[in-house]
Amino acid sequence: MKDFEYFTPTTLKEALSLLSQYKEEAKIIAGGQSLLVVMKQGLVAPEYVIDIKGISDLDYIKNGKDGLKIGALTIHRAIEKSPIIKKKFKVLSEMEKNLATIQTRNWGTIGGNLCHGEPAGDPAPVLIALNAKLRLSSSRGERIIDMEEFSKDYLEVALEPDEMLSEIQVPNPQPHTGTAHEKLMVMQGDLGVVGAAVSITLNPGDGTCKHARIALSNVDSIPLRAKDAEKQLIGKVIDEKVLDKACQVAAAEANPPSDVHASAEYRREMIKVFVKRVTNRALERAKKG
Ligand SMILES: Cc1cc2nc3c(=O)[nH]c(=O)nc-3n(C[C@H](O)[C@H](O)[C@H](O)COP(=O)(O)OP(=O)(O)OC[C@H]3O[C@@H](n4cnc5c(N)ncnc54)[C@H](O)[C@@H]3O)c2cc1C
Repeated sequence: MKDFEYFTPTTLKEALSLLSQYKEEAKIIAGGQSLLVVMKQGLVAPEYVIDIKGISDLDYIKNGKDGLKIGALTIHRAIEKSPIIKKKFKVLSEMEKNLATIQTRNWGTIGGNLCHGEPAGDPAPVLIALNAKLRLSSSRGERIIDMEEFSKDYLEVALEPDEMLSEIQVPNPQPHTGTAHEKLMVMQGDLGVVGAAVSITLNPGDGTCKHARIALSNVDSIPLRAKDAEKQLIGKVIDEKVLDKACQVAAAEANPPSDVHASAEYRREMIKVFVKRVTNRALERAKKG
């Protein structure tokens, strides 16, 4: 690994000032679980490494009238175990429980996971299904971006060189909404061969689908929102025929890779299986909520 200069800021302002000074030559490190891998592989060789783990102001989970706010430095295990998340945003806690091992969840951060831009990552599709937004901060100011706009390509996200992810914002769920997530794991805690997150909101009167959000992992170079499949559900009572059609459309929308874990063809079949299973679970929850 190439030598680098190492900084340990303790405030966001200090970290952003270093980032605005060194821009492309610098890399943020949070848990280091993904960054150190790509540094060891020589894919990234920063001159300056800015370690943000000491910025305690970016480690929080809050819920109020304007929704859930998660600081970028919050570790996966804290999200999994948070009582307010278990109560109001259960799908996030369920997703985290299947993310890697407890050791990894105890050190890896939600911000690091999203900024790494891994299309097989678990939090991104769930946050897309939940219609989350991200707060990006720089010395120039702040901007808010939709989670679904954040991933640009394989391991590429929409951060400017002087920007950091500071907060994840999830709106409070509407009444009659259910959300679910599941991934195909070879072993418990593995990255999903395919993952699906679905959120359904029902019209209470006639039981038709008011809103649907379907997001998939590891089926394209970015976490994929299957908008055409969503259109198959909206305005209809979701029965088996409607859902089967939506699953076929979702599989057609994806551009899955073939790799050592699965062929593209197998992944397409699994999209159908997982979108169906996860939509049915989201639907059950929406009927109760
Ligand atoms: C054994 C193992 C198993 C795993 N299994 C899974 C899994 O099943 N599912 C899954 O989703 N993930 C999995 N991961 C990924 C793991 O969750 C992420 O590596 C981890 O969450 C990344 O967070 P980190 O804090 O270590 O980030 P780092 O490695 O420190 O950073 C990752 C990238 O994000 C950038 N970055 C970090 N924080 C910020 C910020 N606030 N603003 C701007 N840029 C930032 C860094 O510069 C770097 O480019 C696994 C990892 C390991 C090691």
